[in-house]
Amino acid sequence: MVQAMVAITPEGCTGCDLCITFCPFEALLPLSERPADHRHAKRPVVVVEASCVGCLSCIGSCPTEALHEVLSPPDNVASPLLHPPPAPATEPVKRWSRDGTPWS
Ligand code: SF4
Ligand code: SF4
Repeated sequence: MVQAMVAITPEGCTGCDLCITFCPFEALLPLSERPADHRHAKRPVVVVEASCVGCLSCIGSCPTEALHEVLSPPDNVASPLLHPPPAPATEPVKRWSRDGTPWS
């Protein structure tokens, strides 16, 4: 079975944050700091691979098409979700319930 995941093209991410609320697993988070070589003024959003389950709910939410689907090769011996790379330093994002109270 082919494992779907998402990736963000760093050069295309303006840091608009639109995609963040589309992820039910809080796997899209802003970097704590803007990398010195980033071409946009605002820090980018990254995929925290340890949290991404590949549901693809976020696909289509990015206005610059920086967010895209990637597939791991079908001959992988283990899911990449089992061995995620070290998580980057990210900022938490407050989320809100329907009655306006924060739940995290
Ligand atoms: S694929 Fe699903 S879990 Fe992964 S970042 Fe997108 S919405 Fe979140
Ligand atoms: S919607 Fe696209 S440009 Fe905006 S933060 Fe997400 S990946 Fe970056």
